[in-house]
Amino acid sequence: MKEFLGKTVSSGIAIGRILFFAKEKSVVTHKIITDCQAETDRFNEARECAKKQFDELKRKASAVVGDADARIFEAYEMILDDGMFVGGVADHINSEHVNAEYAVKLTGDELSLRFAQLEDEYFKARATDVKDIADRVISILCSEKCENSNKNFSDNDCICNSKNDGKCIDINEPVIVMAEELTPADTINMNTEKMLSIVTKQGSSLSHTAILARAMNIPALTGVDTDASSDGKLAIVDGNNGKLILEPNEETLKEYQLLLEQEAAYSRQMEELKNEEDITSDGKKIMLCANAGGIDDAIKALEYGASGIGLFRSEFIFLDKKDYPTEDEQYEIYKTVVCAMKGKPVVFRTLDIGADKKADYFNLEHEENPALGYRAIRICLDRTDVFKTQLRALYRASAYGKIAVMFPMIISLEEVLKIKAVCEEVKESLKNDGIDYGDVELGIMIETPAAVMISDILAKEVDFFSIGTNDLTQYTLAIDRQNTRLDKHYNPHHEALLRMIKLVIDNGHAGGCRVGICGELGADTTLTERFIQMGIDELSVSPSHLLPVRKAIRESISR
Ligand code: PEP
Ligand code: MG
Repeated sequence: MKEFLGKTVSSGIAIGRILFFAKEKSVVTHKIITDCQAETDRFNEARECAKKQFDELKRKASAVVGDADARIFEAYEMILDDGMFVGGVADHINSEHVNAEYAVKLTGDELSLRFAQLEDEYFKARATDVKDIADRVISILCSEKCENSNKNFSDNDCICNSKNDGKCIDINEPVIVMAEELTPADTINMNTEKMLSIVTKQGSSLSHTAILARAMNIPALTGVDTDASSDGKLAIVDGNNGKLILEPNEETLKEYQLLLEQEAAYSRQMEELKNEEDITSDGKKIMLCANAGGIDDAIKALEYGASGIGLFRSEFIFLDKKDYPTEDEQYEIYKTVVCAMKGKPVVFRTLDIGADKKADYFNLEHEENPALGYRAIRICLDRTDVFKTQLRALYRASAYGKIAVMFPMIISLEEVLKIKAVCEEVKESLKNDGIDYGDVELGIMIETPAAVMISDILAKEVDFFSIGTNDLTQYTLAIDRQNTRLDKHYNPHHEALLRMIKLVIDNGHAGGCRVGICGELGADTTLTERFIQMGIDELSVSPSHLLPVRKAIRESISR
């Protein structure tokens, strides 16, 4: 028995045999070429092919982890189109007369080094993504056939080594996948149903593979001294304590089998909660809703018996695109979500773009402080063309179900009055066009300290408040939520924040508003009873948190 320490990126316990995933990289040879245009064309064809493959991976990933997490592959497609990548490769081809494979390798190495040198931990973690993208383009260039390079997309009932010439390693039992490094594409290309856990040497908790592991709900460790000699050996992954136990002795194995059974019992208990009501032990009904980024999340929300969608992040529709989505395109998406929810309410949040969420076609200027900058409702109230298009699509979709619309990043009464005036204009224009729409409730996100402090005034203007604790924490504690170096200071349990939540609930209720929480804190089960005792009406959490929160609600006393 041997123990290896690592860093937990996803918690839980797994026991099984190790499958060591050895990735064969395409060998890149350096050639001097004469026809630069032909080489650039080869590169562009390979790039297009890679995009198709990432599209396919996104489709597969959606089925495994839901729409929001599957968007990783959209980010990949964006890098494939990014000027730094495309221009970098073209420069190498044209100035050094090198073959496309070599030019992609040079550019991939340069860009990934640039990312690795950044201070921000999140961007540092993107270095692996760039390398992964470059490797894929290289492997397509080496195989030269787009169809063939797709051969690693196997639906066979086995785990596939994606760079193993499409050969599958037949296994009949679930495995712990161990690798030096595992990319999201490697992960999704495998039969994820047989993946018990992921253990790697490289990678961070912010890597996309870590995000996938958490979404798949399997334990994952990184920073483990992995070794091909472990292949086939029995191991325990203790994702709760960051360790891998190789060839455990009988006593350790028994101890972990017991823990695993306890975890399984907990999961079964969760399953049983699917059809239970969200009622406290003393009989108070709480609206437990789901946060969603796409149709898959809506389906999960229904499966887990959510009361509705409490936050639909509509910006994802815009981030997916190369240009502004049209009214009809948006309408189709909103309508699909509303119909999928079968009469349960859906709260659509209008475009919350800016800060960390950027779409090139908005041509947003670089800002020193993007989190405090030009984002969300500030953009919408300037770009009323974009805003009205979205509102028209939402009102049209309201003819098919129960829709509410809420507005992000509010700081003033003036903003709310302007929004209501725009909504009236939109309704008027629909009436003039003879288009049906239903009753749409209007609400605002309370995610700035300013909105908290004037929540008594704002409550008179809207139907509901939804507290965005992610941003409210960052603005209250003056801590950039993207800066992982500040993680230890980012304390959403800070008394200042809890007092703000109480104030918003009281002011909301006094003004006749329903009050919910849709930020991450809503899923913190250590606070569920406290929120309920404060008077919260609704909690909206990611689909994977619905059942634990339901359990906490059912164990709470409301006063
Ligand atoms: C929030 O700020 O709490 C929130 C729900 O919005 P987002 O995380 O999308 O900014
Ligand atoms: Mg927010």
